[in-house]
Amino acid sequence: MEPRIFHGNLTPTDIARTLVARFNRGNLRAQQVGDSNRITVQVGTRDRPASGGQTTLTINIEKAADGVSVQIGRQAWLGVAASLGQTAMATLLNPWNILGRLDDLAQDIENLSLSDEVWSAIEEVARNAGASYELSERLRRLVCAYCSTPNPITEPSCVACGAPLGEVQPRTCQNCGFVIKQRESYCPNCKQPLR
Ligand SMILES: [Zn+2]
Ligand SMILES: [Zn+2]
Repeated sequence: MEPRIFHGNLTPTDIARTLVARFNRGNLRAQQVGDSNRITVQVGTRDRPASGGQTTLTINIEKAADGVSVQIGRQAWLGVAASLGQTAMATLLNPWNILGRLDDLAQDIENLSLSDEVWSAIEEVARNAGASYELSERLRRLVCAYCSTPNPITEPSCVACGAPLGEVQPRTCQNCGFVIKQRESYCPNCKQPLR
């Protein structure tokens, strides 16, 4: 799935903390790995003796120039655990069981519409932090190349010296927050038509 970009004063830690707090309960479990610039949160089903419980939603949260970029995928829980060197976990499990059950589990997670719940939790964190798919106030300003005055992005020419500001004024996709160029009619990230 394509990444979504939230612009504003938001960090990967803000999102990861909320996701773990919200989804590490009931029959779900959540864990986070990584550092403050790049965090992976995994959300999966806790104990599913009937089907194994080893496929998770994997939420990759990365610090971006102007906020945070978030991508959700699906992955075997063991994949990240193994890459962390937590090999002890593997000895508890029979790998052949897991391989045969991945498809069932992927379906289970899909049925829970977990990814929708995760997205709405993330969007709530962003909203509370004042971040959104819109450009932040900082990027909304174009600095004049001649006199260094910051101008609102809608100004065709510098408010201080009158110099032309050009056609490169930034805007974002309303669907995913991707920063796009003026002439594009479809978002290169999520392929939605641009308004
Ligand atoms: Zn100027
Ligand atoms: Zn988009």
